[in-house]
Amino acid sequence: MSKYRIETNCVQAGYQPQNGEPRVLPIAQSTTYQYDSIEHVGKLFDLTAEGHMYTRISNPTVAAVEAKIAALEGGVGALCTSSGQAANLIALLNIVKCGDHVVSGAAIYGGTTNLFSVTLKRFGIDVSFVASDADEAEIEAAMRPNTKAVFGETLANPALRVFDIERFAAVAHRHGVPLIVDNTFPTPILCRPFEFGADIVTHSTTKYMDGHAVQVGGVIVDSGKFDFTNGNFPEFTEPDESYHGVVYTRDFGSAAYITKARVQLMRDLGSTPSPQNAFYLNLGLETLHLRMARHSENALAVAQFLEADARVASVSYPGLASSPDHALAKKYFPAGASGVVSFCLKGGREAAVRFMDHLKLAKIVVHVADARTSVLHPASTTHRQLTDEQLAAAGVDAGLIRMSVGIENVEDILEDIRSALAAV
Ligand SMILES: *Cc1c(COP(=O)(O)O)cnc(C)c1O
Repeated sequence: MSKYRIETNCVQAGYQPQNGEPRVLPIAQSTTYQYDSIEHVGKLFDLTAEGHMYTRISNPTVAAVEAKIAALEGGVGALCTSSGQAANLIALLNIVKCGDHVVSGAAIYGGTTNLFSVTLKRFGIDVSFVASDADEAEIEAAMRPNTKAVFGETLANPALRVFDIERFAAVAHRHGVPLIVDNTFPTPILCRPFEFGADIVTHSTTKYMDGHAVQVGGVIVDSGKFDFTNGNFPEFTEPDESYHGVVYTRDFGSAAYITKARVQLMRDLGSTPSPQNAFYLNLGLETLHLRMARHSENALAVAQFLEADARVASVSYPGLASSPDHALAKKYFPAGASGVVSFCLKGGREAAVRFMDHLKLAKIVVHVADARTSVLHPASTTHRQLTDEQLAAAGVDAGLIRMSVGIENVEDILEDIRSALAAV
């Protein structure tokens, strides 16, 4: 499928029916697979034969979606997970263990911040955060002898800061460790991090990839380019006794990372997506290229409208020329800066609440990145327990509104905003 362009891969990659088979990706709603001999099943368990053994580890419907996403990102393989949280957890645990250290950009999703600063700490894994606009010397200063990975979010949810992939990749590679990038907001339509030096890409497929808010899921994609034989990763180069001495780099070559994630961590942790959800995800992916173009176009129009309105105190959208990250956005997302816009009204928290209560088309939901325009007030919801002072310290203004701009007619979205502003 790689001979086709990305739009064609959105529609067609991953599933190639043979003569007389269903044209549309079938849902293999089966936990198990039958084989004619015990010998063959034994080979599956030794990883010396290819095939599905149990749906916790792999499934034909899920495998087709994994192949499609690997094609979209330009990787050698992918592993779908039950959520974006599970994708980031497994992506890291495949490399780091108790006693290791990770450097992460600070502008990341709140759920990832909790995972890194609370739960991974309980596993004995330490994560240091550096500002998303840190220079190379500052990133260098955060690296330690036991640092095993660098992490960042291409376009941060909800801060909308742009992660300088090349800068962080340069430091990571100087230290012989991979760069893992959460590419949820741009999707491979707007940014392909492997082209800028990232080694592993993760996604919450719950967001734009699905695009219709019908399934929770995640995915890990392996570029196949990182050299895990460089001496820093003995778990890749020494025999895995849980598979009769498999050596991942020797036996699976450039697919060592993604194979290990599946056969070791998915086997043991079991964060498996359902075949039904993989089917929904595939339907969403078929129109991803059309939707991301419209999301970006509509969001830019909304951001420009808000910026020009005297009642609006500030607008954050990297596609705006006034954004401090505009140059990075032009470099990494030349075709559009995705669909999420954050802004503050001059009346602060009270104005934000009144504005949101008067929106009609845009609904208040705890979600972003689907076809329908929606809004969220972090200070009243996801960051509710914080005082206004604590909110300011966390970089979340009490009046901040996060708008996920959908793919409706942009005039209807703007009219909704105009009439809610008039009611404030
Ligand atoms: C939503 C989100 C996640 C978590 O994904 P879930 O599917 O909700 O588990 C991780 N990273 C980013 C950037 C997200 O927006």
